[in-house]
Amino acid sequence: MADQMHGAVYTPLLLTTLSGPSFWDGTDAKPSTRAAYGISYQDRVWALEDLEVLHHVDRPLLICKLGQKGDPVQLEAEALIKEVYFQNLACLNLMGKAQPVKDYTALINAMPERERSNQRAWTDVIKKAIRIQLAPGHVLTATLLEFESKMTTQNARITAMHQYNPIYRFMCNEKGVMVHANKMAWEAYSAGTDGAPTLMDVFARGEYPGGFQELHAAYHEAVSAIFEKGVACHRHQRCYTSKKTGKRKCTTLEMWPIADPLDNKLAVMVSEYNMTQQKELELQLAAQHCSLQRQNAELETLNADIQTEKEQLLQQNTHLTERLEAVAKSPTPGQGINADTPLDLMLNMLQRMIMGETVGMAQILDLRHILTESTTDLRQPIGLERQLLESSHSTDDEVGLSMLQLLKGKSVKQPSRPDSPGANSDEKRRPGLRRLSSRSSFEEQATVAQYDLAAVITPAIERLLQDATKQWQFDILGFAEATPGHTLSLMGFYILKSQGVVSEFKLDEAKLCMYLRRIEQGYDDSIPYHNCTHVASVLQMTHMLMVHGGVMKSRGADRLSLLASYVAALVHDFEHSGVNNDFLIKTSHDLAITYNLQSPLENHHLAASTRVFLQKQYQFLGAVSQEDRMALRTIAIDQVLGTDMKKHFSVLSRFQMVLKCADIGHLAADTATHKRWSLKLEEEFFRQGDMEKALGLSVSPLMDRTHKGGITRSQIGFFSIVGIPMYKAMVSAFEDARPLLDGVMANYKCWEAAAASGKDPRT
Ligand SMILES: [Zn+2]
Repeated sequence: MADQMHGAVYTPLLLTTLSGPSFWDGTDAKPSTRAAYGISYQDRVWALEDLEVLHHVDRPLLICKLGQKGDPVQLEAEALIKEVYFQNLACLNLMGKAQPVKDYTALINAMPERERSNQRAWTDVIKKAIRIQLAPGHVLTATLLEFESKMTTQNARITAMHQYNPIYRFMCNEKGVMVHANKMAWEAYSAGTDGAPTLMDVFARGEYPGGFQELHAAYHEAVSAIFEKGVACHRHQRCYTSKKTGKRKCTTLEMWPIADPLDNKLAVMVSEYNMTQQKELELQLAAQHCSLQRQNAELETLNADIQTEKEQLLQQNTHLTERLEAVAKSPTPGQGINADTPLDLMLNMLQRMIMGETVGMAQILDLRHILTESTTDLRQPIGLERQLLESSHSTDDEVGLSMLQLLKGKSVKQPSRPDSPGANSDEKRRPGLRRLSSRSSFEEQATVAQYDLAAVITPAIERLLQDATKQWQFDILGFAEATPGHTLSLMGFYILKSQGVVSEFKLDEAKLCMYLRRIEQGYDDSIPYHNCTHVASVLQMTHMLMVHGGVMKSRGADRLSLLASYVAALVHDFEHSGVNNDFLIKTSHDLAITYNLQSPLENHHLAASTRVFLQKQYQFLGAVSQEDRMALRTIAIDQVLGTDMKKHFSVLSRFQMVLKCADIGHLAADTATHKRWSLKLEEEFFRQGDMEKALGLSVSPLMDRTHKGGITRSQIGFFSIVGIPMYKAMVSAFEDARPLLDGVMANYKCWEAAAASGKDPRT
């Protein structure tokens, strides 16, 4: 029933003047406001702002203009709110924004029975006319809808919070029937169902990989937990694909036991939380976790790689440090000898010029002077003779002299000892040299019987021989003890056979055995150093350098040169008599005469062993062509002649280098073995000294056993002038041979340490 009074003028009065000071105190809204509108709304004209006071009335109020729809008889039922001028808080809380009255009614009717009975009072609407001044001179009549309810403000809020909570909340009785639900839950679950939805309907919304069985198991687990076990809370996670959005959704049903206040029977209170985001987050986290684990594994691998690399670098570093130390020491090795050759000097100067350094004129003139000297040997340390003589202490001239004699064959200016026997008869001329004749081997007849070396190789010996083919520091002295009388022939046979040389060149195996045995017999084991064991050691080292040191990988090194190197090693000291070339020369030995003082020993080793080989029963070369035989002999001769230390500084070919390095290979042996070899050589020299004394000759330096000691005193010099530069040259050409240089450097340090401590270096 709306009425509009255009043109009518009322005087608006303020509520305060109407009701006096007690009307509104601003603190306790209830009595004053109720009194306010109870007294005054009927005959007052309200300004819109005056209506504000009604906000705090706990009864829902709505001031509006009502329209009507359809039949006037149905007016009340069909009344429509056309325009709202005012809606107080209680009304907003209860009903939300203004709606047609019938919609309010419908809302309440849709509520579950218990809720509805609580709310029924809201349908009783008291309508009253009220006048409102919207603008000066513009007053209209509106309808005041006053909703009757016993509900308090507090209840209204609780109800509103419950009804409009976006989290689904509902209660089911023990049969699982939903007896109450908030608005959202009810709308969600009642759609499309006749009657009240059930807890089973709620569970069935989910998708279960295990199908119907899994759904039932989950449902019964929940029912049993709440109604039988009486747990405090039971949770069920439910996932499904939304029909609206097609997106995967996840919810958690949280279920608590509760007593229904109507009948006090056990019921279940359910809250349904949307877990989609959590689930997504969970999946994201799981994915992140996986990827982090993968990254972690990768990092660990990387870390391991870095560790390995670090270890390698550390090793390299150690290696480089050692090399640096060796290099730092080499120009001024122990006892102050400079082993630089004119060639080294020239190369260093060129290197510095290449690197852009300025080379002083004085240095260039120095080098020019050295190069133009008539006696200059490009490969011999500069001023070696002077250095050797000057560096020797006045009390130890012998060391320098011995080196000089070894390398240059200088005659030794030492006075004969007065007590030396002066006799010089033919009988005394060559004591202990019965074997040495330039014709001895040639004239002999077959002395070696058929012999099968393969039959001598027991499993234990074979293991040692296997080691020999691959170890730089093979225990040759131990091997010699295990193979008395066969050391050299076994080593020769096994190496030639295992390296495939025998089959490759179709060598005659029986003749090879005979030959090896015959060569072995050409060495005298009563000689301390130059015996079968020394030769077996040289053969083993030759093999290591050729096969493992990288020489065979170099250009022009063919299989024939490997065979030649083995043969050269086998014969390189053949029929050594335990004295050196100087002795043969100064005693005018037959060999010195035969070979015109030129390397009599080395020439004899070659000639005598060749005479053996030329005998029919030893010709093991079988199918090797005449041309190859000549090439083989040339290589072997070249190598063996190169072992004369007088030719040390003019050695050039790599095969000569191999045999020379192998010949003094004990310098690279482990320190104990190296010292044993050094003592053996010293003893051999002492024996020569004994013979020199017996012949009334001056005793060679370091060979007098009654004097201060032998060659063990000169080791530092020998290492720095001969050993280290030679192995360095070898390693610079064949890096794989570095283990040898490492061994040599270790032994050198031992001798140095012994010299520094003043102890007897032989112990
Ligand atoms: Zn030798």
